[in-house]
This record gives sequence, structure tokens and C-alpha cells, in this order.
Amino acid sequence: LAERIQSTLEKFGRKGRIDKETLEKGLREIKLALLEADVNYKVVSNFISDIREKALGAEVVKGVNPAQQLVKIVHDELVEALGGEEAKLNLKNKPAVILLIGLQGSGKTTTAAKLANFLKKQGKKVLLTSADVYRPAAMLQLKKLGEKIGVPVFLEENEKDAVKISKDALKKTRDENYDVLIIDTAGRLHIDEELLEEARRIREETNPDEVLFVIDAMTGQEAVNIAKAFNDAVGMTGIILTKMDSDSRGGVALSVKGVTGKPIKFAGTGEKIEDFEQFYPDRVASRILGMGDVVSLVEKAQQVIDEREALSMQEKLLSGEFTLEDFRQQLRMIQKLGPIQQIIRMIPGLGSQKVLKQVQQAIDDKKLKRIEAIINSMTPEERRNHAIINASRKRRIAKGSGTSVKEVDALIKQFVQMKMAMKQMRKMQKKMAKRGRKF
Ligand code: GDP
Ligand code: MG
Repeated sequence: LAERIQSTLEKFGRKGRIDKETLEKGLREIKLALLEADVNYKVVSNFISDIREKALGAEVVKGVNPAQQLVKIVHDELVEALGGEEAKLNLKNKPAVILLIGLQGSGKTTTAAKLANFLKKQGKKVLLTSADVYRPAAMLQLKKLGEKIGVPVFLEENEKDAVKISKDALKKTRDENYDVLIIDTAGRLHIDEELLEEARRIREETNPDEVLFVIDAMTGQEAVNIAKAFNDAVGMTGIILTKMDSDSRGGVALSVKGVTGKPIKFAGTGEKIEDFEQFYPDRVASRILGMGDVVSLVEKAQQVIDEREALSMQEKLLSGEFTLEDFRQQLRMIQKLGPIQQIIRMIPGLGSQKVLKQVQQAIDDKKLKRIEAIINSMTPEERRNHAIINASRKRRIAKGSGTSVKEVDALIKQFVQMKMAMKQMRKMQKKMAKRGRKF
């Protein structure tokens, strides 16, 4: 998913601007990418039309290009589609009950232990139980995990009634003053009416605070049907997405959230007990997009670059009245964004070490500071009209700024080249004027 979207946006980047037609093309690509990532069709449709609405109305923020801005819009929409804010566990009762449901192999038993460990670390007294009466190995698996994390596991190894085990475990939880009971249940490889019914009855009898549906992030298109079946038959209060470490597409997260409307509360990120974290829609969206840190770059630019300042700068650039004074102001604007290295790293496509090095050699902070120092040492008159800077003025400027005449020369040369490039741009701009500044 990340790669597809990235290459789409790179195409935008080369165009420099996004008109309506380009936006539609881009949206089509994003739609295909999402469908390929096994996101449910309806979820995709809603998603795309939301982005279209936002992108069409959005002004391009100065200091970022339209492609970067679109990334931000797609990102924000992804965050929204993934639930917006992170969802916390909702444990009200004393003792509280958490019921885990899901298909076999989805990661329920592992997750039961991870969750127990998570709550134990918060100082809660936790009891685990296994209502998986079909596979003796399942109970043993939970027992071993419990020993590993130091959480007691309530088992009735010869009991064949999963509902009875759950009720007995709840009784023990009350009698022995536990804070939380986590019930691990059985699953089959496919949706199974009998098991759904069993889970529904356990829910009825134990009245859990949380019924968490556990699903493997690699499930694919089937995820929608599985989630819907469990939601309809048993009901759920939240979702835990496992094996996020092996999924690169992120489609399942969008699908299950979209089809059930229930928040994703945790993510499993590996086989070890500690590979478990709260689900942050924000971080996952960034990961799905795989766009470096463009989002924060755009946010930063929005914060620090004054809209009017940027606009008048742009007018000056294009009018050809651009002076060294303006050049200095522009340098300051860039520096406000933070260390140049950091900014470069945020730009997609520049993440690779080789490219990064090249760019860093070309512009680094020290160089920027020296350039500013040189311009600072000029008189206002010199800044307005670089042509009057003769050899003796250059020596004075070099001395004043602690640089050399060679560097002053290089700067002036660079400035003249930049002015020339701007004249070229102005001609192009006129041709493109029709396209407008909006998406
Ligand atoms: P259950 O049948 O739903 O109880 O699933 P299990 O808890 O037995 O897990 C099935 C397999 O998935 C086991 O091999 C686990 O180690 C593995 N597993 C569970 N969660 C994760 C995860 O977040 N990442 C990875 N890589 N493997 C996981
Ligand atoms: Mg299990």
C-alpha cells in the first residue's frame, strides 16, 4: 500500500501542482492501492470521497508542495478511518471481565497473556482462564504463558463446558479479590455457528466489560466477513489486531474498523509477551503511508511560515525585484523549520543514505549560517543592489562576517544565478497561471 501511494504522489510531485484532473487520477490510484490491500470496497469508497472533498477545498500551504499537502490530507483521513484518537480499555466493574474472541490462530491465547502482563504492570491483580475445551494443548499453552509472566491461570482441565469454566473462574475472581479476569476462548479455522453461540453464552453469563475481537492483520479480504459474523453473533466492544509485525499493507485495520465501527484498542507486534502496544491510529496511518515524516513537516510549515510573509516573498521572487535582503529573509524562513538535516529526512524519497549524504553536502546548516553572516555584514544599500559590491566592499564584508572574499564572491554568484532561474520560472508560471493555486 505504502509503495503504491508513494509512487502516485511522486508523480504529483513532478507536476508541482495538482489540478482537478490530476487529483482524480491520484484518487483512482489510491483507491486501487487500498482495494489491493484488501480493504473492503465500501470502506474504500467512503474514504476516497472524504479525501476528494477535503482536497478540493484545501489551499496549498506555503512552504510545502501540493503532493506533500495531499499526503497530509490522506494521512489525516486515514487517522480518522482508523478511529481518530487512541481507544483505552474500559474497565468499570469490580472485578472487571475481558472476553477474547476470534478465529483459531488469530492470536487469542498469546494476546490473553500479553494483556494480562500489560494490566499487571499497571498494578492490577489479574486472573487468566482458558475456556478452550476442545484442545487440551490450548489450556497448557495458557498455563505456560501464565507462569512466564507470573499471572495465575484458572483451569478445569476435565471440564467440557466452556460456559461453566468461565462462570467458575469469575467466582474465583470475586472470592479472591482479583481486579480483572481475562477469558481466552476457543476458535475454529472458519466461522462456526456452534462456537459463535458458545462465545455468546459466555458473554451472557459473565457480562464482560470488554469483549475484544482478536484478528490477524494478515487475514485479507475475509477479515470483513469474519469481523461482521463475530460482531453480529457475539458482539464486541473493541478490536485487537495481531501480527502487525508481519503485515505491510494495513488493509485489515481499515476494514474491520470500517465494517464494525468498533475501536481498535491494541496491536500485537511480535511473538514475545512485550510485543504488544496500544493502537495509535496516528502512528499506524503514518506507517501505512510510509511517507517518512511529511505529515509533521507540513504541520511545522503551517506553524512557522506566516502565510502573508510567504506570499509576498513569492511575489517578489517572481517579479524579479528579489534582492539579497529578500534572500536573507528566505534563508531565515528555511531555518525556522529547524535543522536542515532533519527537514531533509522528512522528505519522502530522500530517506536513502546515499541521497541524504549528497543533499547534506550541498546544503548544511553551517553553510546557511555563513551565508546569513555574509548578508548581515552588507549595508542595506548593498543588499538592495548587489551590483555596487566592488572588490574593496567584498574585503570589508568578508572581514565583517569572518569569511573570505572567495565565499562572498561565491554567494553573489549563486544569488545572480538564482535570480536568473527565477526569471525562467516566471515565464513558466505565466503559462501555468490558468491552473490556479487550488487543487
Ligand atoms: P489462538 O489460536 O487464537 O489462541 O492463537 P495463538 O495465541 O495460539 O497464536 C497463534 C500463533 O500466532 C502463535 O504461533 C503465536 O506465537 C503467533 N502470534 C500471536 N500474536 C502474534 C503477533 O503479534 N506477531 C507474530 N509474529 N506472531 C504472533
Ligand atoms: Mg488459543
